[in-house]
Amino acid sequence: MKYITKYKSTNYNSRKNSKINLIIIHYTALKNTMDAISHLCSKEKKVSSHYLISQSGIVYYLVDDKYRAWHAGKAFWQDIVDINSVSIGIELDYNPDGKNNKFSFKMISSLKKLIFKLKKKYKISKKNILAHSDIAPFRKKDPGKYFPWKALYSSKLITNIEQTKNGDVKIIENWFHNHNIFSKKKIIILALSLIGYDTRQVYKKPKLYSELLKAYKSRYIYYKNMSKNKEVYIIIMRHLANFLLTK
Ligand SMILES: [Zn+2]
Repeated sequence: MKYITKYKSTNYNSRKNSKINLIIIHYTALKNTMDAISHLCSKEKKVSSHYLISQSGIVYYLVDDKYRAWHAGKAFWQDIVDINSVSIGIELDYNPDGKNNKFSFKMISSLKKLIFKLKKKYKISKKNILAHSDIAPFRKKDPGKYFPWKALYSSKLITNIEQTKNGDVKIIENWFHNHNIFSKKKIIILALSLIGYDTRQVYKKPKLYSELLKAYKSRYIYYKNMSKNKEVYIIIMRHLANFLLTK
């Protein structure tokens, strides 16, 4: 796989021996690739990512994988709050309100190749390929509801939750019921917490619960009927069963 290494960002520091185990997908929300490069390489902006992929599928390698790039910001996943230390950040030259408002075929094709390579090199699990909105659901929307997650699971880079067996879902549901947890809201919060989401304040602040569900729905919108709360519950149950049973 070929990268453009002409542009380098100095916005990074040491991972301090943390192992890489997550890949975070972002969009830049900027005008074009050149704007994104100057943004991600500007000392004043204090942000960066390891990779940037253009609309034409060119991959820019801005920060060496071995360093800690600054792309996640205030974030949380699986009780980890310093996401930058354990992740690789990939920015896509995409802006929902710009001319670059399409996830082009070439862009996604390069992204798939890059994820494939990184997954193999660092032994990253399928369930650890995440959206920025997964790790910062109350703050971030990227890569947004139009991002083609389906293309990633068709290429076996992420898991397909819909393939979870009904029997496995029943086991998970029974587990909650056997522990006297019957409220669907409580089950949803616990399930999302086990999967990795930040639910620390969600019990106390009802507004955060709806924001978390909104972030979740936009991430998994390609599953049918995500507009109905009953379907969301079923998808989350499938997701948890899949999560607990996949390596
Ligand atoms: Zn982002």
